[in-house]
Amino acid sequence: MIQINENYLKLQASYLFSEIRRRTDEFQTQNPDKEIIKLGIGDVTRPLPEACIEAFHRAVDEMGAAATFRGYGPEQGYEFLREKIAEVDYQKRGADIFAQEIFVSDGAKCDTGNIQEVFATDIQIAIPDPVYPVYLDTNVMAGRTGAFNDGRYDGITYMESTRQNGFIPELPSADVDLIYLCFPNNPTGATITKTQLQTWVNFAHENRALILFDAAYESFIQDPDLPKTIFEIDGAREVAIEFRSFSKTAGFTGTRCAYTVVPTSCKAYTAAGEAHSVHDLWFRRQSTKFNAVSYPVQRAAEAIYTAAGRKQASALIDYYLKNAALIRKEMEALGYECVGGENSPYIWIYGQKESWAFFDLLLEEAGVVCTPGAGFGRCGEGFIRLSAFNDADNVQLAVQRIKQALS
Ligand code: PLP
Repeated sequence: MIQINENYLKLQASYLFSEIRRRTDEFQTQNPDKEIIKLGIGDVTRPLPEACIEAFHRAVDEMGAAATFRGYGPEQGYEFLREKIAEVDYQKRGADIFAQEIFVSDGAKCDTGNIQEVFATDIQIAIPDPVYPVYLDTNVMAGRTGAFNDGRYDGITYMESTRQNGFIPELPSADVDLIYLCFPNNPTGATITKTQLQTWVNFAHENRALILFDAAYESFIQDPDLPKTIFEIDGAREVAIEFRSFSKTAGFTGTRCAYTVVPTSCKAYTAAGEAHSVHDLWFRRQSTKFNAVSYPVQRAAEAIYTAAGRKQASALIDYYLKNAALIRKEMEALGYECVGGENSPYIWIYGQKESWAFFDLLLEEAGVVCTPGAGFGRCGEGFIRLSAFNDADNVQLAVQRIKQALS
C-alpha cells in the first residue's frame, strides 16, 4: 500500500492569502466600480534593469549558435557569477567569503525550504513569530514538529518579536540547534544591529547551534551602520548560512535567481559528536537534486554587478523605498506606531485593533488591501503589513484614501 507522508496532514491550510483573496473578491463583487489597490503582496512591479535585459538577450543568442551553445552548467552556478558575488557582496564589505562557498539557485524560497534536509530530524528548531511561513512549513513536512495546537506547532521554539523587544527576539532559553533569523525582516520590516547580531553568533558558538540567516531584503539597507550580511560579524563563518536573492534586489521574482552562502568552516555534528562540513553536505544535496539556474538567467544576474546594472538596480530599490517612506510618514501622521519602511520595503503597523478588523476597515473604507499580521503568527495579532512593492501612483492614491478613511 502506498502511504503518504502524514506530516503533510499537520500543515495548516494556507488560510492567509486565500482569505485575503476571498474578502477582496467579495468586496469587488459588491463594489464593481471601486478600484482596489493591493499593498498586501511582496511581489515587485517594476521591470528588470536594462543591463540585465541586454545580458539576457546576448546569452539567449549564444544558446542559439553552435559555437557558443551551453548544455548542463555547474550545479553550484557559473564561476563568473559566483566570483562577482564573493567580491562585491562580501569581500568589499570586509566579509571573508569566497566563490566556492556560494551556491547559485532559483530562489531563496527553495533554499530556505530545502536546507533543513541536511540536518537530523530530531534537532530543536527556533523560529521567529511572526515569520515568513516557509521556515515553519518545511520543518513540519520533515516531521520536526508535533501537532498544531492553539495556533502553534508542538515541539517548535517560537521566538517572539513584539513591541516590547523592538521586534528583535530574545535569545532562546530552551536548548535549540537550528535558528532561523531574517533581517531586514519579513513581515515586520525590523532591522538588526551588528551588536545584536553578534550576541546571536556568540550564542550559536556556545550552544554548537547553527543560524540560518535570511537576507533576502539586504539591498534595502541604506544605514551604513547596519550589517548587510551576517558574515560581517566575528565568528559567523563557523555557525551561519546566509540566503540572498535577486528577487527584490533587481526585480527577479519572475526570472528566478538567488544564492546561498555556506562557508567551508561551517560545521554540524553526528549524534556521536563528530564534526562535519555543512558545505560538503549542501554541495552533495545540490549536485544530486538540483541542476543549476539557466545560463541566460545567470548572465542576467551577473549584469547587476556592472556599473550600469548596479545603478539601475539601486534605482529600483530607491523607487520602492520612496513608496515605503511615504506610507510610513502618513501612517505615523495618522497616529499609528510603525516599524520598517526604512531599510525595508515593509511597514508593520500597530493597528490598535484585531488585524482582520483593520484589514476589513482598509478594504471597505479605502479600497486598499493590506496583509493582516495575525496570518504570520500569533505575535502578528494587532498588526497589519503594508508593502511598498507597487507603482508610485498607486501608493500615493492608496495613502490618500487611507488618510481620508482614517482621519
Ligand atoms: N525570504 C523571505 C524573507 C521572503 O520574504 C521571500 C519572498 O518573499 C523569500 C525568501 C523568497 O525569495 P525568492 O524569490 O528568492 O524565492
